Amino acid sequence: MTLDNIKEEILNSKNIVILTHEVPDGDAIGSSLAMYIGLKQLEKDVDVVIPKFSKTYKFLPAVDEIKEQGRMETYDLAIALDCGDIKRLNGFSRYFEYANCKISIDHHEANTMFADYNFVNPTAPACAQILITVLKALGIEITKDIGTCLLTGIITDTGGFRYQNVKPETFEFAAELLTRGVNVSEIYKKALQTIPIEKFELRKIAMNRVEILEEGKIAFTYITKKDEEKTKSEDHDGIVEIGRDIEGVEVSIFLRETGENEYKISLRSNENVNVSDICLMFNGGGHMRAAGGTINLPFEKAKEKIIAECKKHLSEN
Ligand code: 5GP
Ligand code: MN
Repeated sequence: MTLDNIKEEILNSKNIVILTHEVPDGDAIGSSLAMYIGLKQLEKDVDVVIPKFSKTYKFLPAVDEIKEQGRMETYDLAIALDCGDIKRLNGFSRYFEYANCKISIDHHEANTMFADYNFVNPTAPACAQILITVLKALGIEITKDIGTCLLTGIITDTGGFRYQNVKPETFEFAAELLTRGVNVSEIYKKALQTIPIEKFELRKIAMNRVEILEEGKIAFTYITKKDEEKTKSEDHDGIVEIGRDIEGVEVSIFLRETGENEYKISLRSNENVNVSDICLMFNGGGHMRAAGGTINLPFEKAKEKIIAECKKHLSEN
């Protein structure tokens, strides 16, 4: 079984690197830090490499131990968490590729099974939920610190237990983490509610630009590099949800300028449209209700194309 192989590989490795997807969210960072703290318990020489992340997650245990670069080129083992596609490891895929053994633990439906051992459960609402099982299998004690990281992953990826991905087990896992002393109200406040003023300013720009199309079924907004420079924020987390939460909207589209004629797409849907399918056509993927991809076109053309694709999927439902 994959879990047995994963357990054996981890126990037999000394130098381990933990990696996650670019523009990491609470699940990506929470899962990475939970794994990091757990492997430290097993006295492994472990690094967690995340080049850039939102200061929202600065409250997490062990966050100051996150490295921008690895300590070596070739690790015995690389573990990718919450990442459906090796391309999303970004510039840090080399640590993954060079490692002697490669493990992926993930919950993305469109996972490309890019590792030697892939432990993927698309029905899990967060990678952090899968990790509870993995850490326990390794004999790691789920401490308050590990629990805080894991519950942050679960809370952020379920929007605070509000999304359709929530299962009875999600509450069982959460309940178990609470028994370890995890402060759920602090996690809610820090990970979901409080936002830095710069982020608020960026969100305000996006909010003012929201267009409602297709008889109220599609919401569209965008952010440019200039906006990011002006507000000194690159934290666009939550922007795509502005459109999704408008009554009657089925698909919310958010474009973010990432280069010349290059935009990162974020999609959300409410009930019918599988946005992961749409994003597969844009070099991306994700989940049924939340997915992303990339489009290489000038702004107006990019906007037209993504709206047209969403329209097509709306009419298929
Ligand atoms: P977000 O819109 O928050 O960036 O991403 C929503 C979901 O889609 C997340 O689960 C994320 O991992 C996934 N996702 C976003 N962009 C990409 C991409 O370019 N490729 C793949 N495979 N998944 C993506
Ligand atoms: Mn996730």
